[in-house]
Amino acid sequence: MARAAGPDRLDAVVVGAGPAGSATAYHLARRGRRVLLVDRRDFPRDKSCGDGLTRRAVRLLGEMGVLEELTGAARVGGVRIRMRGRGSRDFWYDGDGPLAYGMVVPRLELDAKLCHRAVRAGATLWSDARATYLLGEPGAVRGVEIEREGRRMAVRAPVVVAADGAASGLGRQAGLRSGERDRTGFAARGYFADVTGVDPLLEIHLPLFDVTERHLLPSYGWVFPVGGGVVNVGVGLFDPAHRDSVRGLYERFLSELTRDDPRFHRARPVGRMSGAPLRLDFDPERCGVPGLLLVGDAAGLASPFTGEGISLALESGVLAAARIDEALHESADGPIDPAPYARALADRHAGHFEAGRETARRYLLAWRVLESTFDDDRPIFDLCRRLVLFPDGARAQRLLGPLPALDPALGRVLRRDLNAVADLLTGCVRDDWPMFVGLAAPDEELAAVALRPSVLLLLAGYVGRRRHPLSHALAAAVDLGMFAGLAMDGAGSAGAPPGAGRAGVRSGVGAAGLPGARVPVPRSGPISAVGAGGWSPNPRPVPWGSRFAILAADYLLARAYELAAQGGAAMVAEFAEALTASCEARAGQWRQDRQGGLVVDHAVSGWGDPAGRTDWSARGEALAGRMAISFELPCRLGARLGGASGSVVNALASYGRNLGVSRALAGELGSAIGDGDAGRSTEITRVRDEYARRAREALARVPDGPARDLLHRLAEPPVTGAAPARPGPPSESSSGSPSGLSGPSGVGHHGQRPEER
Ligand SMILES: Cc1cc2nc3c(=O)[nH]c(=O)nc-3n(C[C@H](O)[C@H](O)[C@H](O)COP(=O)(O)OP(=O)(O)OC[C@H]3O[C@@H](n4cnc5c(N)ncnc54)[C@H](O)[C@@H]3O)c2cc1C
Repeated sequence: MARAAGPDRLDAVVVGAGPAGSATAYHLARRGRRVLLVDRRDFPRDKSCGDGLTRRAVRLLGEMGVLEELTGAARVGGVRIRMRGRGSRDFWYDGDGPLAYGMVVPRLELDAKLCHRAVRAGATLWSDARATYLLGEPGAVRGVEIEREGRRMAVRAPVVVAADGAASGLGRQAGLRSGERDRTGFAARGYFADVTGVDPLLEIHLPLFDVTERHLLPSYGWVFPVGGGVVNVGVGLFDPAHRDSVRGLYERFLSELTRDDPRFHRARPVGRMSGAPLRLDFDPERCGVPGLLLVGDAAGLASPFTGEGISLALESGVLAAARIDEALHESADGPIDPAPYARALADRHAGHFEAGRETARRYLLAWRVLESTFDDDRPIFDLCRRLVLFPDGARAQRLLGPLPALDPALGRVLRRDLNAVADLLTGCVRDDWPMFVGLAAPDEELAAVALRPSVLLLLAGYVGRRRHPLSHALAAAVDLGMFAGLAMDGAGSAGAPPGAGRAGVRSGVGAAGLPGARVPVPRSGPISAVGAGGWSPNPRPVPWGSRFAILAADYLLARAYELAAQGGAAMVAEFAEALTASCEARAGQWRQDRQGGLVVDHAVSGWGDPAGRTDWSARGEALAGRMAISFELPCRLGARLGGASGSVVNALASYGRNLGVSRALAGELGSAIGDGDAGRSTEITRVRDEYARRAREALARVPDGPARDLLHRLAEPPVTGAAPARPGPPSESSSGSPSGLSGPSGVGHHGQRPEER
């Protein structure tokens, strides 16, 4: 019989002192709450893990004040993908702020620091104490029984937080864990010393095959630098059907490394290999009952794309603590309703988890995108790679750039509207192309709003006199149009054998009813067996990337039209007109790229004279057509929806067109600067500034106000006149940024930082 015990009048009992439990306890204690933190182990204790901390994890550790205690730990600047037999590609974290880095910290050290941090903030820690049963009546948890020093005690509190890891006995007892078997991956790792020449990056190895070497697995291997010649090596497997083979997979990966990778020639194992399940089954319906909240792995919060779970554990701790504190303010007795916590988690992660699970289980999409587009720098592929690798960092911000600082009142309105737009976008893509859900997610940083067509539409709307009920739907439609354009920019290149585009032309964009837009795709090159059995490599290059791009473009366009149709036939016509203009300009450019042997009207295309010199003024005019969908249409529609007068609508449309061209030229300026071509840089700067001036001038006819101010600042060229250098080798049809999209900044290629090129 358990006897009542524990600190008097607890506000919360947290079971499990891993990252999720310690973060919950810390954030509650900081709010002055009385917290008991319980773990069945004594600290420091080890935990099977890759020890990789993403930038988001580092930021959350910073908020807990733990970073200062990790000064000696290894830092990493991003992710390196090593593609078997095809070299590597580096994805550097953006930004140069103090927390623009990741880390590798052995869990032995990290978890001890985290739980001591919670204790220093005021939590009481019971180690070597095991939670055995939840207390209370069905549907209302009122405490937990704890076994400690051979005695059982009933500890009562308004809320119990289950942070008891992937196996979560408490979650199971509360009936919150059923059917997750088919959503559980597995991972294994070991440490190696005397490994030389490992760069400060989280290194991911792809693809991994099954034992027959024929079937691609939803899996990857990693090499994470711990520092001092020590690395953490492991494999993660994201499809439960293959769970049994994780040990074999680990051994095959290791033997390949030690045999083929010179850095491992003198490597020796330190300690034993160990593995554990990866809970990928987050479901907002199953992360609490009254009086009980599940956090971290207990809530199934490991990323189904990457297996990353530490940042999600820390973040769920932040959210759980906030919810508990709020509920205790309302009533000190409990049991606490978990619904607001579940909603907060769902808002952030539901789409990502759905996308990842579908990807891993049904399509192997992420792996195929990475594999088939590995050598291709086009924006859609860069975006897809990032959606897979950095669910928190693949925002559209990368496409059109950030906004200047926002007036606080305007920022609040804009953020509220953008959240509504994100809901609509998510609803559009989550069922069929879940991978794109990441595109819809609003930016994490409240202060940072990225420029995208929806933002232009909303800002132009604020200039007018009224709020139109359709503005969210149309803002979502123009964003989808931009993403479709991005996908079109990727069509016809990946995996295409040389000359294939000329031989096989298909009206891919025509499927969306756009006359004259013909997408070159390779005629040959079979798609290898894709299906229940998996994917097998083919000796011929697979043009899967091209087909992916075309399908994605058609799909996104169809959804964009569906939204636009809410505005009636006239709106659809307007939308179609802008898309047609963009596509025709794009198709014209493709023709130039692909039909190099044919007679080309260089003056019209703006691509240059027959001697190869570019007429930049003509180039600007040629680019104007491409700006129709991402810049001009949003401004025009927004102004009209806002009830602006005809002349203001025209002024804002002109503003959008000129802004778009100046931004596209800024991309081209980046390549000129990168190439060290001073003559070209000067000429592009002149033309870019001219378009920026025209954009600002157009605003003279627009009524004063914070929205106009912001639009004005958006059109100011950077003071230095420099644009970010375009990373990666310029590709034939996307030299510069003809789509008006800035290059995939921060993406290095083959081991180079962008700024080193
Ligand atoms: C091999 C492998 C590699 C991984 N690599 C990475 C990586 O590189 N980066 C990353 O971000 N994520 C990685 N993950 C995922 C990551 O390890 C988890 O998501 C993370 O540990 C979750 O933290 P948590 O606090 O929820 O659970 P845990 O860290 O598992 O902590 C749970 C705690 O609860 C305690 N406990 C359990 N039951 C009881 C009980 N009944 N009573 C009292 N205490 C109890 C345990 O002792 C433990 O201390 C990896 C996972 C695996 C398996």
